[in-house]
Amino acid sequence: MKRLLVLGAGTAGTMVANRLRRRLPRDEWRITAVDESDKHFYQPGYLFIPFGTYAPDDVVRPRRRSLRAGVDLVRGTVDRVDTETDTVVLTDGRALPYDQLVIATGVTPRPDQTPGMLDGGQWRRSIFDFYTHDGAVALADALKAFDGGRLVVHIVDMPIKCPVAPLEFAFLADAYLRERGIRDRVELVYATPLPGAFTKPIASRTLGAMLDDRKISLEADFLVERVDDRTLVSYDEREIGFDLLVTVPLNMGADFVARSGLGDELNLVPVDRYTLLATGHRNIFAIGDANDIPASKAGSVAHFAVDVFVGNFLRHIAGQPMTGRFDGHANCFVESGGGRALLIDFNYDTEPLPGRYPVPRLGPFSLLAETAVNHWGKLAFRPVYWHALLPGRPVPLPAHMSMAGKRVPTAEE
Ligand SMILES: Cc1cc2nc3c(=O)[nH]c(=O)nc-3n(C[C@H](O)[C@H](O)[C@H](O)COP(=O)(O)OP(=O)(O)OC[C@H]3O[C@@H](n4cnc5c(N)ncnc54)[C@H](O)[C@@H]3O)c2cc1C
Repeated sequence: MKRLLVLGAGTAGTMVANRLRRRLPRDEWRITAVDESDKHFYQPGYLFIPFGTYAPDDVVRPRRRSLRAGVDLVRGTVDRVDTETDTVVLTDGRALPYDQLVIATGVTPRPDQTPGMLDGGQWRRSIFDFYTHDGAVALADALKAFDGGRLVVHIVDMPIKCPVAPLEFAFLADAYLRERGIRDRVELVYATPLPGAFTKPIASRTLGAMLDDRKISLEADFLVERVDDRTLVSYDEREIGFDLLVTVPLNMGADFVARSGLGDELNLVPVDRYTLLATGHRNIFAIGDANDIPASKAGSVAHFAVDVFVGNFLRHIAGQPMTGRFDGHANCFVESGGGRALLIDFNYDTEPLPGRYPVPRLGPFSLLAETAVNHWGKLAFRPVYWHALLPGRPVPLPAHMSMAGKRVPTAEE
């Protein structure tokens, strides 16, 4: 019996295990997923918890329920991968041998990496994150109690998962404060290490104009060096004081990746960007946020990547070349407040462009434009995630990005 071991049963690991369980003969391949938590979190839902749109329980399910029968689940924390003996060792000493290994342990926010963030006495008092379930729940209470002052939305450094999520938070905070009638008592600031609102120029123009419209001031090229009490201090010695800080801490891969000699300085696994095979290895892949591909860290990227990976993996174990090429396809709804959202669709080579998606001219979704239909698309994504994406049911969206329905704006636009 051959052994496929999947480390991490979050978005990517669950899809890999479920999709391959359908394709690999049960009498030839045992599939085992390892995860340290018995709960599966729908992370895109964290955005809505601070504003009361989702309750904390709306985004959690037992992990076992998302995995097909025939996929073994081991609850445990990975301590290291021994690539000499093809064995994974858990922190409790259990050893799990593998023939093929898929690393899908994602990234986690690391507030401990910014001096003063955790140890200055302000964590979860005036400094919050919404990239963890606990953080989003704690922030809901803090926002309710907030009645004026400077609210700073902040990113420590890129890459982060869902790079538009902090912008969405700023737009939703603006709408929320208006609804409460206290927007004029709040100064909203968006502090980012990027030169503009977003990583890609056309989307950055659109999203930057949306910050301006909402009177959210943009503090660009802001690389935080430390947090001093209630002040962010950058390497170039700019200071931003805050009454409430909503930060996205440094996102890092799991520590075992570094301990196993498999990672870069952020514990991300270097891979071939088209096949996701770990550099220098023949039987280790890294998929989802855990790898270093130059694409967004997003559930949509994990989904499109798994579409390509499954065919490649089957060819690989049959001794054939991997002919599928993942193109870095990402798409993300961007909530903009007031029941509207934008949609962006892009890949390694093409930045987000205006147009319609997925059907040219018809949509129903609009690219880089705010519509109510996009907002409903964002909300519909949660049941699609649980009932179609995770179980590995077909979703009628091509894995590769298409230019159909997109247009390149003129210089005047
Ligand atoms: C606030 C927020 C909003 C987002 N919005 C969107 C969105 O709108 N659209 C979108 O496409 N994506 C969005 N994302 C991103 C998306 O959730 C992630 O990109 C996706 O979950 C990545 O999947 P993954 O499998 O790589 O990692 P994860 O889903 O994070 O899974 C990693 C798993 O590994 C386990 N693990 C980690 N370390 C170990 C260890 N040492 N031992 C054992 N198990 C371990 C964890 O318990 C976890 O279950 C959002 C994320 C956040 C935080």
